[in-house]
Amino acid sequence: MRRIVLRSETDWDGWRQATRALVQARVEPGAVKWVVARAVGGEADPLPETTGTFHVPRALISLASVAIQAREPERFGLLYSLVRRIGAGEKVLEDDTDPDLSMVRRMALAVRADAHRMRTGLRYLPVTEDGGVRYLGWFEPAHFVLPANARLLARRYPDLKLSIVTPDGSAHWDGSSLLFGDGLRHAADDEALQAWWETHRDLVLDQASADVSVSEAEALDEAPRPPDRPAIGPVVLTVKPDPGLQLAGREAGSCHRCPLYQPATQTVFGEGPADAPAMFIGEQPGDQEDTIGRPFVGPAGQMMDRAMEEAGIDRRMMYVTNAVKHFKFVARGRRRIHQTPEVPEIQACGFWLDVERTHIRPRLTVAMGASAARAVLGRAVTIGRERGRPIPMADGTTAFVTVHPSYILRLPDRAAKDREYAALVADLRTVRDLIGAG
Ligand code: SF4
Repeated sequence: MRRIVLRSETDWDGWRQATRALVQARVEPGAVKWVVARAVGGEADPLPETTGTFHVPRALISLASVAIQAREPERFGLLYSLVRRIGAGEKVLEDDTDPDLSMVRRMALAVRADAHRMRTGLRYLPVTEDGGVRYLGWFEPAHFVLPANARLLARRYPDLKLSIVTPDGSAHWDGSSLLFGDGLRHAADDEALQAWWETHRDLVLDQASADVSVSEAEALDEAPRPPDRPAIGPVVLTVKPDPGLQLAGREAGSCHRCPLYQPATQTVFGEGPADAPAMFIGEQPGDQEDTIGRPFVGPAGQMMDRAMEEAGIDRRMMYVTNAVKHFKFVARGRRRIHQTPEVPEIQACGFWLDVERTHIRPRLTVAMGASAARAVLGRAVTIGRERGRPIPMADGTTAFVTVHPSYILRLPDRAAKDREYAALVADLRTVRDLIGAG
């Protein structure tokens, strides 16, 4: 058995170098033991001496660069096995039924969801440091997403001092260098985080190093910010989860009020701070949301994030949910095709929307698309006629109607997409003005 020691859980360079040598030496996947130095220490067996090259499809590099951040220990060997089989001429990437490929794809999906959770869910505690401020963020990742995403956050906030602390480790940005150090096992609240920082700060920063290899593809996942799109500053608030809302979310997990629970994977309840000034409501979870269990994480959610940011709205401060909490679809082969929910389904799920609105009590309720508008206003709504202006509600709050991002994604041509996206951003700027965000 050949022992390969990687320097960290995300040692992309080390894994690539070893994989290249092992594939060329035709080493069987079962003859390799992959371990991480931090976890076990010890010496690695020397890599075989090789010269030639072999081609790995770009799609596999891209997939592997994300999946390597998964927490499953078998990922290194699984990825090596995929590369070796492709190197041997197998058309693995064209076979959707291949169990190894399916597992790697599931890992990558889970990593992307976790990275999205980190980028949209991080909140910071400001602590005084050398006469200035350092923003201290706490996050418990499901996977090893800190290194790649710390780079994105550092680029997002080039002028700030940031530290992101997790149980796996910590990342520290001072405006010029990004260092990685030890983490904190568990932070119950802001006070615990601050106390740990005050006692460990010097030790953590002294021992921090920049020596963390992450996958290039994931580090380049977010395009550089255009100069006309200033970064929204770090959200500084302590988010105390609303216990009543958490309980409602758990109860909705076993809801049978309409038939939509049957084929769906899980209930996708809303998320966001309990004191959010606005609630954004979509139609229903999509394919990815159904798999991951969080609202607005798929392509439509990513477009919404971009449009909100462009309009000066910080999604992390908003409550985001759907009119219907289960994914309605028809299966066509291996694909699941979205189906618009019927009025009785929207009405049945209105129970949960009312629960969410009662707890959040948003000043503004933003309905995205016709299903959400029907759920909020209790009547059929023609989006083109009612979008873009405040609509008074019987309870004294205000509703606002705009399009659902998936409508823009479905438009056939680029020009129409650009036009409708600009109109969505314009609507969201009105939303920003109505809630006084920005
Ligand atoms: S869609 Fe809503 S009402 Fe229907 S089962 Fe799911 S949670 Fe219940």
